[in-house]
Amino acid sequence: CPKLYGVLPRPCHALVLLNPQSGSGRALDDFQAVVQPMLAEADIATTVFVTERPHHAHEKVRDEDLSQWDTLVVMSGDGLLFEVVNGLMERPDWKEAMKKPLCILPGGSGNALAASINYYAGYDHVAKKKLLTNCTFILCKGLYTQMDLVSLSTASGKRFFSFLGFGWGFISDVDIDSEKYRWLGSARFTLGTLQCLAKLRVYQGPPRQPGPLPPDSLLVPLGQPVPAHWTVVPEEEFVLVYAIYQSHLGTNLLMAPAARLHDGCIHLFYMKAGISRVTLLKLFLAMSRGTHLDLNCPHLCYVPVRAFRLEPRVAAGIMTVDGEALACEPVQGQVHARLCRDGRS
Ligand code: ADP
Ligand code: MG
Repeated sequence: CPKLYGVLPRPCHALVLLNPQSGSGRALDDFQAVVQPMLAEADIATTVFVTERPHHAHEKVRDEDLSQWDTLVVMSGDGLLFEVVNGLMERPDWKEAMKKPLCILPGGSGNALAASINYYAGYDHVAKKKLLTNCTFILCKGLYTQMDLVSLSTASGKRFFSFLGFGWGFISDVDIDSEKYRWLGSARFTLGTLQCLAKLRVYQGPPRQPGPLPPDSLLVPLGQPVPAHWTVVPEEEFVLVYAIYQSHLGTNLLMAPAARLHDGCIHLFYMKAGISRVTLLKLFLAMSRGTHLDLNCPHLCYVPVRAFRLEPRVAAGIMTVDGEALACEPVQGQVHARLCRDGRS
């Protein structure tokens, strides 16, 4: 049984993957001004790899000799960590590679994992430089633990490993195309006109023992009907579907307060059509404090699951994986508990 926690060696050598374009473009300045002095105090040496284009970090960690690094640090938004996780999973030695401790330092505009870790650590809710300082402090302490990943597969044959969430409909549209939601002010949330017709299938059964590779033991191919013991949400119009596996969807969105790094669970939210704009706005305002479920809105459903399948009737709306856009198509996913695991077990 792998140990739950490990600790980085000292001295420690970190490879820092930094996206200079992330967020407001200040990641490199912030790294030098805020992060590097703290890490130096903690005896953590850094080699900075500045990404020059999308996919650069993916290729770097896919081909890298990882034995020279004690940890891989991502200074960017969630998107760059998504590249790193999927680059590691493409390696023939993915199982070994996934034992390498990973660290996220918020440098992007979407820093949901950093906000979640700040929350799990019991720190006050903070953003921007204070969040960066807290996350750097966590790295300085050097304690690391395991994290679940969700394997997502699409009808066109793509497979992703996701650490944050899969979304369809309203939230994903806002994520990718928030400009058209400016009428709502800084929150940028609206019902819009989108109503997505889909069938949602969820599975609450116990997980099976994973094999030598990470096979999706709970899933059958997308062309086949789901197993009979799955729960099928009948064909409905949905405003949004969001499967989240961390607490925060954004720095100010505490969507799944009960979520933890390795709870073995997908926290599935879906919102049925017919909800009023006012109620939707109230829900999102409550979500900043994580109290949206207390409103008992009949349109908002929450169910913790281990696997799900989403079958859109038409290819409408944007899908996102960890904040990155996907074409709309049938998707299914299942959790792989603790796939990012303690390296010192
Ligand atoms: P943000 O939260 O600001 O969106 P992300 O880390 O999510 O930051 O990065 C967004 C995208 O930028 C990622 O999809 C990544 O592939 C891409 N990217 C990485 N390096 C660069 C670069 N040098 N120039 C442009 N895009 C990049
Ligand atoms: Mg991003």
